[in-house]
Amino acid sequence: MGSRQVTDGQGLSWEGKHVTVAGLGVSGVPAAKVLHGLGARVTVVNDGDDARAREQAAELEALGVTVRLGDGATLPDGTDLIVTAPGWKPDKPLFAAAAEAGVDVWGDVELAWRLRGPGAAPWLCVTGTNGKTTTTQMLASILKAAGLRTAAVGNIGVSLLDAVLGDEEYDVLAVELSSYQLHWAPSLRAHSAAVLNLAPDHLDWHGSMEAYARDKGRVYEGNRVACVYNVADKATEDLVREADVEEGCRAIGFTLGTPGPSQLGVIDGILVDRAFVENRQKNAQELAEVTDVTPPAPHNIANALAAAALARAFGVPPRAVRDGLRAFTPDAHRIAHVADVDGVAYVDDSKATNTHAAEASLAAYPSIVWIAGGLAKGATFDELVAKSAPRLRGAVLIGADRALIAEALARHAPEVPVVDLDRTDTGAMLAAVQEARRLARAGDTVLLAPACASMDMFVNYNQRGDAFAEAVRGLA
Ligand code: ADP
Repeated sequence: MGSRQVTDGQGLSWEGKHVTVAGLGVSGVPAAKVLHGLGARVTVVNDGDDARAREQAAELEALGVTVRLGDGATLPDGTDLIVTAPGWKPDKPLFAAAAEAGVDVWGDVELAWRLRGPGAAPWLCVTGTNGKTTTTQMLASILKAAGLRTAAVGNIGVSLLDAVLGDEEYDVLAVELSSYQLHWAPSLRAHSAAVLNLAPDHLDWHGSMEAYARDKGRVYEGNRVACVYNVADKATEDLVREADVEEGCRAIGFTLGTPGPSQLGVIDGILVDRAFVENRQKNAQELAEVTDVTPPAPHNIANALAAAALARAFGVPPRAVRDGLRAFTPDAHRIAHVADVDGVAYVDDSKATNTHAAEASLAAYPSIVWIAGGLAKGATFDELVAKSAPRLRGAVLIGADRALIAEALARHAPEVPVVDLDRTDTGAMLAAVQEARRLARAGDTVLLAPACASMDMFVNYNQRGDAFAEAVRGLA
C-alpha cells in the first residue's frame, strides 16, 4: 500500500492529526499503517495483550506508531478522531468518552470511504443477515462479464483500504458490508445498495432488533440510482422507505414470483427484469435461466436477482448477467454437493450458522436427513423446525446446544426420528454421517445445515464442513 501522500475524499490533510485506532487485528493494523503514512500521529489501543498482539504492536512501534496494549477503554489525550475495528461494541467506555469529548468515530469502511481519491470507483453495496458474500461475489462476476474492472471487497477478497488506495484501478466495486461496519460508516453514500433480508442476528451487539435494522438501513442512505429490497421481506422495503436518498433514486424489488413493474423476478424458470427496461408497465427483459445459478436453491436465486438488480442499476447489459451467473461458483461450505452414495446426496452447508440460513437451505430439498447443532448463540429453534418438519426424514444432533433443537423437534415434529449423539468432540462428525446414512433412503439429501456456530467442536465452520466431507468420502 506504501505511504504515498493521499488526502481524504474532501482533500483534507492528515498531517499532525492525532488518530486513535481502536483494536489491532484485521482492520486495525492496516488502518494504523495507512494513517501513519499520511502523516497522522497514530495511537493504537487494544484490550488484549497476548503474544499475537505483542507481535503486531512491535511491528507498528518499529514504524513510529504508539501502541497501548491491555487498555482499550481510556481515550488517549488529544485524540482528534477514533478509527475503530468494526466489531467493537458501541457501548464501550471508549466511545462514551469520545462522545463526551466531541470526537468522531469511524469504522474501517468509513475510513476507506473518506480516503477515496477524486474520481474513485462508485460502490455497489450488499448487506443483509444472510447471503452477503455469495451475492457480492455474484455481482462482481456479472460486472466482470460486462468487461468492467471490479473486485468483490469488504469481508471477502481484497480489503476495502487496499481497493481504495492500491495501484489497481477499478470502474466499480462490489462491496459486502456487515451491520457492524454500517454502524460505523455514517457518511458512506453508495451508487446503489441491496438489503437481502433481515432476521434477528447479533442482537447482543446492536442492543435491539430496531437498532440492528437501523444500522442495516444505513446502506440505503444517499443512494443515487437504486435501493434494492426483498419483496418477500417487508422489513427491507420499510428501510428503503425510511432512507433519505438522492433525487431520482428508485426502489427496486426482487421476488421469486412474477415481478411487478420496477421489480426483478422469475417467470417460468427465467430470471426477468421489469425495472431497467423501456416501458416497464408492459415489457420484461429476460436475463438468465434459473439453471444458470449455482446452486439453484430458492434463496440463492434470490441472491442472484439482487446481484442482477445492482448490476442492471449500474447499466450492465442482460447478456453479462447471464454470463456472470454462469461463471460464478460459490465459496466452499455453502450448499456444496459433496457426493452421492447409494442414491443419497450429501450436501455441506456448514456456513448455515444461524436459523435463518438453515431454514433457507432446508427449504431447498424435499426429503432431508438433517445434521444440526453446535453453539446456538441465544437462538430458538421452534420456527425453523415447525417450518421444516414436513421435509425431515430424520435428524442427527451434535454439539453443545443440541438439546434446544431436540426439544423443538419433540414439540413440532414428534414423528421424525432423532439421533442425539451426545458428543462435542471433533470426531463426532464421522458418527453423525454414519447415523444419517442409516436414516436416509434413496432420493433423500443428507444436509449439514447446523443452524449454530461451530466453535464448540471445531475451529470454524470450514473445519466443520471439511470433517463432514471427509466422513462422506469415507462412506463412498
Ligand atoms: P453471509 O456473507 O451473509 O454470511 P453467505 O453468502 O456466506 O452469507 O451465505 C451464508 C449461508 O447463508 C449460506 O450457507 C446459506 O445457508 C445461507 N444463505 C445464503 N443466501 C441466503 C438468503 N438469501 N437467505 C437466507 N439464507 C441464505
